[in-house]
Amino acid sequence: MTGGIIVLIIVAVIVVFLLVLLGRAAAFKPKAGVPAHTGEVPVDAETAVANLQKLVRCRTESYEDHTLEDDAEFQKLVVLLPELYPNVFARCEYTELPDRELLFRWKGQSDARASVLMAHYDVVPVEEENWEKPAFEGIIEDGILWGRGTLDTKVTMNGILTAANTLIGQGFVPKEDIYMAFSGQEEINGPGALRAVEWFREHGVELSMVLDEGGAVVEDVFPGVKEKCALVGIAEKGLMNVEYSVASQGGHASAPKAHTPVGILSQAVANIEARPMDANLSEPVVKMFDTLGRHAGFGMKVIFANMWCFKGLLANLTKKTGGELSAMMRTTVAFTQMQGSKAPNVIPPSASVVSNIRINPGETIDSVLSALRSRIGNDAVQLKVLGDYACDPSPIAPTDCDGWERVAAAAAGTWEGSIVAPYLMMQCSDSRHYRDYSKKVYKFSAMHLSAEERAMIHGNNERIRLEEVAKATEFFTRVILQS
Ligand SMILES: [Zn+2]
Repeated sequence: MTGGIIVLIIVAVIVVFLLVLLGRAAAFKPKAGVPAHTGEVPVDAETAVANLQKLVRCRTESYEDHTLEDDAEFQKLVVLLPELYPNVFARCEYTELPDRELLFRWKGQSDARASVLMAHYDVVPVEEENWEKPAFEGIIEDGILWGRGTLDTKVTMNGILTAANTLIGQGFVPKEDIYMAFSGQEEINGPGALRAVEWFREHGVELSMVLDEGGAVVEDVFPGVKEKCALVGIAEKGLMNVEYSVASQGGHASAPKAHTPVGILSQAVANIEARPMDANLSEPVVKMFDTLGRHAGFGMKVIFANMWCFKGLLANLTKKTGGELSAMMRTTVAFTQMQGSKAPNVIPPSASVVSNIRINPGETIDSVLSALRSRIGNDAVQLKVLGDYACDPSPIAPTDCDGWERVAAAAAGTWEGSIVAPYLMMQCSDSRHYRDYSKKVYKFSAMHLSAEERAMIHGNNERIRLEEVAKATEFFTRVILQS
């Protein structure tokens, strides 16, 4: 073969390759999603806002150290409920389970299956001095309700109960049983939600859907997509805190060995950060890219329509950048705490660092521990999983069942023009307790949130636009009407 022919062949291969990439991008058009649940639905927006305001005025801060909690405030909220949602109490069976779990059963036309709508009414503590307005007074100003819990998650608890209260008042009877389950210990990883699961197990309830907090309606989060996206979690990452420790004989710092415990730990940390965990696109992320990528501009479509080709590139790129895209693709390890000697001239008998780890679907606590050990490559470093709430990633919920369809249709009908997409939740929610009981667990916080509003969750000045209080109620009304 002459040199000219070889060049021609190479050029031809490149041209064909580019044509394949561009052709696939051109054919990468939006798929018809689940049809929206449209039409007028009854939403009593004024009452929804007034009720949420009253819930916010209960100072239900939960603490791992229960002595810091004000139990009277939790009780205040619980006794308020029959007053705010009288039809729910008139029509539903109500059970107070241990560990502050509240369970309502709204009997449907058949009890062959049931859906579960979840929220939590405890909140994380506030640093009031950093708030512009009091955190528990429920102040309404300029169309905004201020207060801890307005977003996380008294709004959805109120949305569920207000929707049910209105529909019961109109004589609506769902086809299947609807359970409403509210936890008072979510923020401290308490077992409340587990009590509800135990109750379902005891009573042999077959679940068609579980819906808890998770993704939200967001904008400008996916490259090249301008529409609002309703991100519905179909799985959540696992979680564990790992402590790495090195023991030594201690001693005076004037004649140290070549490597101190702090030095050995530093090397371990550097090794782990230098080799991020392997990338693996889990099913929720593949589905999200496939849904949202089709709505992106042509340049981004070239990438998302050709993940077979660009996956490696993306994996390498995000290895260096970290951040949200990286977290979607791999198990992440964030070092958060370190401890050594109490005095500057004493070599510590033991030093330790702690990392917070979010485990990607497809991996487990054990597989991550062994990946960490291989990166550290030093048996002097001891690994220990801390606490009692380490968990593997959740199972992945299906997107071809009526549970998914109800959630997707309600979201598309409530936030018109938004694209509903599956999503991988990075945080842990109470719904993880359903892992061995039902696969059909969906994670969606029924609100449209800006980036600024998302940052208020667990932060200062948490507040909600009143229209979103109504939207949350509308969303649950649409979910219930399809149940
Ligand atoms: Zn929270």
